Amino acid sequence: METKKWFEKKTILVLGLAKSGFAAAKLLHQNGANVVVNDKQPFKENYAAQKLQEAGFEVICGDHPISLFDTNSFDLLIKNPGIPYENVMVQEALKRNIPIWTEIELAYLLTEARFIGITGSNGKTTTTTLIYEMLKADHKQAKIAGNIGTVACEVAAHAEKDDWIVTELSSFQLMGTKTFRANIGIILNVVDAHLDYHHTRQSYEQAKQAVYKNQLKDDTAIINADDETVCRLAEASSGKKVYFSLTQQIENGACIKNETIYFNQNPIIERKDVVLPGAHNLENILAAICAVKQAGVSNEAIREVLTTFSGVKHRLQYVAEFNGRKFYNDSKATNLLATSKALDAFKQPVILLAGGLDRGNELDGLKEHMGNVKTIVTFGQTAGKFQKLGRELGIHQIKRVDNVEQAVLEAYKLSEANDIILLSPACASWDQFKSFEDRGDMFISAVHMLK
Ligand code: ADP
Repeated sequence: METKKWFEKKTILVLGLAKSGFAAAKLLHQNGANVVVNDKQPFKENYAAQKLQEAGFEVICGDHPISLFDTNSFDLLIKNPGIPYENVMVQEALKRNIPIWTEIELAYLLTEARFIGITGSNGKTTTTTLIYEMLKADHKQAKIAGNIGTVACEVAAHAEKDDWIVTELSSFQLMGTKTFRANIGIILNVVDAHLDYHHTRQSYEQAKQAVYKNQLKDDTAIINADDETVCRLAEASSGKKVYFSLTQQIENGACIKNETIYFNQNPIIERKDVVLPGAHNLENILAAICAVKQAGVSNEAIREVLTTFSGVKHRLQYVAEFNGRKFYNDSKATNLLATSKALDAFKQPVILLAGGLDRGNELDGLKEHMGNVKTIVTFGQTAGKFQKLGRELGIHQIKRVDNVEQAVLEAYKLSEANDIILLSPACASWDQFKSFEDRGDMFISAVHMLK
């Protein structure tokens, strides 16, 4: 492809390694660029840097020397999305008018495949996965990129022209993109988030708008009709506009009527047949349907996924049923908002397993969502706070335990048939676990041990 040639003989600084920097450096090198790598982590502990140096790359580790800009004439800086704009190297590049990209721009230039780009404050991973599964169910050529799976530039390097690259896009990745164009672009929702990085809501919104702004007339902007910000940002798209809504009737797009999901006024599936719980997931589902319908996916394939897909791991994931009790793993719920969404998803009595790292905040925000909670089983640093919350709400069964395995056992002992046993900790995991994944995995294996 012509744009690939652009990289030949260019001198490019890759700032920050991790998965995306490592993949970007290798790809640029393969495409004829002269690559310099700079990463903060000292060389001795930096496996990615060691691998690149072995392969003949110039690697500078341990600090960020701006003198690199005097010894090299950089044409471009590829920045790891997590590195803030305050970073000295980024500031120096800005001063010298050197373009700053993330690996998504690179991915875009390296392939002729089509992109489905999904962004939003919440629901990206779930929607990305749903779209990918629906495309696969209809035997379409699709590849998934982003948080789950492989970084976009690596996927792009191996993609074919007829592939759909389904990619989750954070605002960090989108910020600074110039040419990236999503054939199908989605913003799910916009709430205040990551303001430590973006500083202003306007800058955060602008970053998200990148999924719409380069769209051409044959492209599609998928828009949450219930979110005013998304509707406003979509004005930047020159593509076809397709809407979804949980509350309004939509002629051109997806909505709910008589407890049934419709697309373009045709019924697709009854709500009761959808496995994934929660109104927030219904939004993700409507957005996914709008996307895959642009790619010609059949209603049968959509139904196949919606009647079987039980959620992305650790995100209100259905784990198992045992003696009439259903177990859900929502270990990714590390704040009150996420746990409220999980609690709102159930009408049955809930046994809530919660607790974890204490960041000093109170739990009052959960109160109005606790109507169905009949029992709290709590652990970790915030256990005392959950006990207090339970007492204030008049919940009779409150049990403090040492860990997640005990919590599962206790929850089962205190449960009856038809109960939901839900791990949705409302706290980060680092007081007792390596990660939220680790916590969720322990919950899953404890549930399977019960059985
Ligand atoms: P992201 O990739 O944007 O972090 P995920 O799909 O991983 O989103 O979901 C993370 C958490 O966000 C879930 O546990 C759920 O509580 C919440 N969530 C998911 N989808 C939505 C949505 N459409 N609106 C609000 N909250 C959501």
